[in-house]
Amino acid sequence: MKKNYLKILILIVVSATFMFMDYDTNYVYAAKSSSSTVKKVSQNPKYIKLNKSKLTLGVGEEYTLSYKLPKNTKPKSVKYTSSDKKIATVSKKGVVKAKSKGTVKITVKTSNGKKSVCTVKVKKAPQKGKVKITNSNNKVQVNSSKYKIEYDLNGAASYHKTFKSSNKKVAKVSSDGVVTGVSKGTATITLKLYNGVSEKIKVKVVDDCLALNVDAYQISLNNKRVTRIKYGKSAKGRILEAYEIVGNKKTTKTFIMTFAIHGFEDEYWKDGKVLVKEANKLVEYYADNPSKLKNMRVIIIPCLNPDGTIAGKNNLRQCSKAYGRCTYKHIDMNRDFKNGKFKAKETRAFRDFLKKYKANVFIDFHGWLNESLGTPAICNSAKSKIGLKKAKKNVYGTSSGYLFGYVHSQYNCPSALIEFKNSKSVKHKQVYKFTNDVINKYNKKA
Ligand SMILES: [Zn+2]
Repeated sequence: MKKNYLKILILIVVSATFMFMDYDTNYVYAAKSSSSTVKKVSQNPKYIKLNKSKLTLGVGEEYTLSYKLPKNTKPKSVKYTSSDKKIATVSKKGVVKAKSKGTVKITVKTSNGKKSVCTVKVKKAPQKGKVKITNSNNKVQVNSSKYKIEYDLNGAASYHKTFKSSNKKVAKVSSDGVVTGVSKGTATITLKLYNGVSEKIKVKVVDDCLALNVDAYQISLNNKRVTRIKYGKSAKGRILEAYEIVGNKKTTKTFIMTFAIHGFEDEYWKDGKVLVKEANKLVEYYADNPSKLKNMRVIIIPCLNPDGTIAGKNNLRQCSKAYGRCTYKHIDMNRDFKNGKFKAKETRAFRDFLKKYKANVFIDFHGWLNESLGTPAICNSAKSKIGLKKAKKNVYGTSSGYLFGYVHSQYNCPSALIEFKNSKSVKHKQVYKFTNDVINKYNKKA
């Protein structure tokens, strides 16, 4: 009896083992050497995908395509074909060779019929002397990476290109032609194409602006709509800068925006820099979107108090040790804009700037009280576009020496003070929607 039980048990175990084996011919079993687990690899992938769906090459240029398959799939075969071998051929390994001008489809196909197509356009090869670098200026500010090499191949194409700097200690260049100024001096950037044709541009690296404004300054060097205005120097000799941006239409109004009158706000170490950064982004935004300006010119002062923002030590209110929120000479500029005051050099410089560039609309940006003060229409915009909670409408703080109150009374214009919620809540998209809304409100009114 015992022997029979054993026989039956063996029979059960053996048949169970066969039951769990899969005889589907579409699967092979691959054992991983590192572990004893067995993984299923399908020979019928659900898709195949080329790394490019479009490609432009010059005659004679080569490009190696690659593809992706779903995990744990390995078709019996993968084949590349060209729809017109006179225009471009493709090798077994996906190397496309451009032969003559035209458009061709390169297809990759698996043994189970899945495919992916790349449309290859073949243009003429670049010719010596006909490749032009088209940048209209060649100045690059130290630390800025807003200068990109632009070029015209005169109807030719070159997928492969390299950029090289003759002096990396002066200027670096990325693989897509973005030049970063490293130190003052000159360097030659060479663009080289697949067939050896090359073109050069000499760039002059300058170090002329307030360090925090490298982006805005570089844009002013590249873009004719943007002008940097130097309106004075701080107590420690730092440059006081404004950036003026004009649109497509004739300018009839001036919208002035100021940032970082307090180098330190109340949140953390040197948080005025967050505001300066947003100001630089706003310069870039209006340089790229001039139609949004309507008939206004925008003047942005990214940093009213550069000493406090860059080298300040605390956010103390005005006292003999206050430097950060206050200027190097311990003055809170946002209490300094009233008759009998104007004690800070920076305050006086900006007062004189305002005399010259009279504001039709004015906004001063701060943090972090989550509120707006001043002209009701601007407060309403701040609530709907930035989401600021409180609004102190028609409160201007003029008698306290607030800058925006001074502008409001002196130039009789709509004026507001914006306090963002916190440093993390300064969202560029919200800010330009807000400033665009203000432009739309005031650009037509007399
Ligand atoms: Zn403030």
